[in-house]
Amino acid sequence: MPFDTIIGHERPKRFLQAALRSQRLAHALLFHGEEQIGKLLTARVLAQAVNCEASPTPDPPDACGVCRSCHQIETGAHPDVTMLTATSGKGETDQTREIESRFIYRPLIGPRKIVILDNADLLRREAANALLKTIEEPPPDSLIILVSSRPEALLPTIRSRCQEIRFAPLALDQVEAAVRRQRGLPEPDTHFLAVIAGGRLGLALEADPEALRAERAEFLRLVSPESVERTGALLAACEAVAKSDQAEAAFGWLATWFRDLVLVKVGGDRARLVNSDCQAELGALASRLPVATMVDLAAYVESMTRGLDRNLNKQLLLEGLLLRLRAALQPKAA
Ligand SMILES: [Zn+2]
Repeated sequence: MPFDTIIGHERPKRFLQAALRSQRLAHALLFHGEEQIGKLLTARVLAQAVNCEASPTPDPPDACGVCRSCHQIETGAHPDVTMLTATSGKGETDQTREIESRFIYRPLIGPRKIVILDNADLLRREAANALLKTIEEPPPDSLIILVSSRPEALLPTIRSRCQEIRFAPLALDQVEAAVRRQRGLPEPDTHFLAVIAGGRLGLALEADPEALRAERAEFLRLVSPESVERTGALLAACEAVAKSDQAEAAFGWLATWFRDLVLVKVGGDRARLVNSDCQAELGALASRLPVATMVDLAAYVESMTRGLDRNLNKQLLLEGLLLRLRAALQPKAA
């Protein structure tokens, strides 16, 4: 049964199946939670369960996964089920039309017309207003599922008309087990992906561990004790990262590095290390810094990430970290 194939997310699944059983599924749903966590997959399974042609309906309600309707939804070919990914700016008019047109006609073969709109928070102006109109006056037999990792960016008027369903990150061992089962990678890669994914199963199942390690090496070079000593090169590197479109990735890796340093320093559970394949480097750096300094540095990196969200100057944020690190590594004058 398709609901059983979704790993984790027990609460959303129970809620949706209960709503199906009592035939009280809302006309508009908002699935929110971090990216690549399983929201879209669950939306598709729900669409299958709603329009499944198998009879009688199983208990708890579910899709059969094999009938014509289930198959068409799986392959994106069902005439009553539309999957859209919102974009901002260009293409918005098309999306407005698409949303409006989807609900004009009654369902062709299934009981309900369904639109699944991923990245719903990216819709602006006319497209968002078209969506709001559809949600305010839902055509009979319609179901709209908005999917968003930034629900706070949705129009409050849209949000207030949706039944909200929150998706939480999966547990580390759930992600690790799924990666092991589905990818058959060497064990260190399996663990690395599970930890780096932070509960986002989709990411763990898709990411290339070698590409991730190469990206990490590039950004962690910034914080090696050798490079923080060379002021000129250091400032140039900060500028280069800040001006690239890689600042967010760089800040993310730096955050994992400084969290790991604290963990190593205080003798925490090494299974929680993101960079568990770099324990020698972590140990060497940790031995040179007092624990209070490392906690301060880790807190500073966390604040850098929040600074990104607030559009603070990336170059200054990064320089702030590296200059703090350099000061901490310099031997104190006697
Ligand atoms: Zn079916």
